[in-house]
Amino acid sequence: MTKRIALIAHDNMKDTIIDWCAQNKEILSRHFLCGTGTTATRINEATGLPVKAYLSGPLGGDQQIGARVATGEIDIIIFFSDPLTAMPHDPDVKALLRIAQVYDVPIANNRATADCILQTLK
Ligand code: PGA
Repeated sequence: MTKRIALIAHDNMKDTIIDWCAQNKEILSRHFLCGTGTTATRINEATGLPVKAYLSGPLGGDQQIGARVATGEIDIIIFFSDPLTAMPHDPDVKALLRIAQVYDVPIANNRATADCILQTLK
């Protein structure tokens, strides 16, 4: 069954999410992908996967994705946040984590968890 997967990565983690998407391109190509602006664009450029782009995270993209979680339009979130850098939009990051928890939407904060979630799609 097709899943709606949101992809988000902070700047220091963008190479990681691009590499993860490239490695899992075949599986991901069977699902609907969306993401925050820069992450979505860079994944598309690097892998050719279609990724619907919302606004950039610091400009409201995390909140747009959070709103879609609340309305039942996102099934899985892959969110490679940067654990070592302070973010100006930290409240938005926390809000997305919270709303995913509220709606019981799986959310992967690192590659190991993302791999586990992907296993369920095979
Ligand atoms: P970006 O946003 O994909 O537009 O860089 C990610 C974020 O910082 O939340």
